[in-house]
Amino acid sequence: MSLVVLKFGGTSVGDAQSMRQVARITHEATSTWNQVVVITSAMGKSINSRDSMKVTDALLVAARTAADGDSDTFHRIRRELSDKHQAAIEAVIANADERLRIQEEIDQLLSGFEILCASVRVLGEVTPRALDAISGLGERMAVRILAGALRTQGVPAEPIDATELIVTNDHYQSAMPLMEATRDKARARLLPLLAAGIVPVVTGFIGATAAGVPTTLGRGGSDYSASIIGDALDASEVHNYTDVDGVLTADPRIVPEARTIHTLTGQEMSELAFFGAQVLHPMTIAPLLEKKIPLRVKNTFNPAHPGTLILYEAARQEGANRRDGNIKAVTVIDRVSMVTVAGRGMKGVPGIAGRTFMTVARTNTSVLMISQASAEQSICFVIPQSSATKVVLELKRELGPELSTGEIDHISTLEDAAIVTAVGMGIADTPGVSGKVCSAIGKIGVNICAIAQGSSECGISLVVCGADSKEAVRAIHALTVA
Ligand code: ASP
Ligand code: MG
Repeated sequence: MSLVVLKFGGTSVGDAQSMRQVARITHEATSTWNQVVVITSAMGKSINSRDSMKVTDALLVAARTAADGDSDTFHRIRRELSDKHQAAIEAVIANADERLRIQEEIDQLLSGFEILCASVRVLGEVTPRALDAISGLGERMAVRILAGALRTQGVPAEPIDATELIVTNDHYQSAMPLMEATRDKARARLLPLLAAGIVPVVTGFIGATAAGVPTTLGRGGSDYSASIIGDALDASEVHNYTDVDGVLTADPRIVPEARTIHTLTGQEMSELAFFGAQVLHPMTIAPLLEKKIPLRVKNTFNPAHPGTLILYEAARQEGANRRDGNIKAVTVIDRVSMVTVAGRGMKGVPGIAGRTFMTVARTNTSVLMISQASAEQSICFVIPQSSATKVVLELKRELGPELSTGEIDHISTLEDAAIVTAVGMGIADTPGVSGKVCSAIGKIGVNICAIAQGSSECGISLVVCGADSKEAVRAIHALTVA
């Protein structure tokens, strides 16, 4: 039995014309695969018209402005959301009764949205839990319309809210799935539909706690939803449809000659996603690893292009796992700060590193990169710029005693930095690769502030000044081997 999970991103369902294209791709998949599951994002920007509204962004703006006491914006956004969805319904659903029914369902969801925003305004604050309830509405609207579009094209389809399938913890805004419970629920709900030849059209991005409270998996989380469902159903493959021809060697806005990468290993893909490649949510690979479920990244608007295939160890013969130390791609994370804790007294004083990172953790900040220069007796680490002030304040408090005795000389920050990462299997343990990377950066006169060999052995990360990051990306891109 072959089962494919097809995931479509926001642009892929951004307007009626794109939704029809998604329905065509799904229709075709039903003749290639025994069973097909569709996961969709909320409607994003239109690729065919000037409509640039992204539904999830709009929902979040509504919630935040309501929390600031603004009572107009969320009403206006409701009208705009209603127009965008209504236009799609009218254009993609042929049957008049069905059109009316779906219009009513969307209206109900939007009334719920208005009530939630009104309560947020009265309370004067928006909790992470309320943000999840509000921001997850986009996917719930999209599945209803997309399932209707599929039925119009003769594909039996049923919309499903993933609150019925994906059980998560209660870390609102970036909830983690509880896989065992999810597997049970997803199989119980989806397998009977699949056996009856129905395509379930499932919301990306959202889940619910065991008690049924709606959660979200974090921005861009629909990719993650697709792999969670793929894992739960033991899918043969997961196809992630976006608006570019797969995973590129670099961001084409920085490197116009960036190319599509044909194959990547799961590890390389995770490294790329973690270090700033926008194409997939960083957690997407994790649920697929154990069963080695292949993932394809494809373009909704150019479906004939093979895109990028992500494979695991079994793929040696395909060359995806060659550990030849070739650089396959380069990514960048901008707007980060590098914090340095330095002092003679750090040497041989156990526990400073532990206290440093515990303090960072207390501020709920995730550390993107760590590098320790033992000779200089310092630890430096990189965090998002938006967290730098609070982290340094907390560190000065925590390490106050050592600062006053001089055991620690200073805690300093390099603002507006960037992490540039070269990715490829084996590059961190192949002699000469870091030398090549550093000399390419040296040749263009860019200063490297810190280096780390990524969390896995397939990445080398450099910290440079934000102003130099694009040039550094281009210099490393020149070293990539397709
Ligand atoms: N709609 C959500 C977002 O914009 C999830 C996704 O599209 O992956 O973040
Ligand atoms: Mg996405």
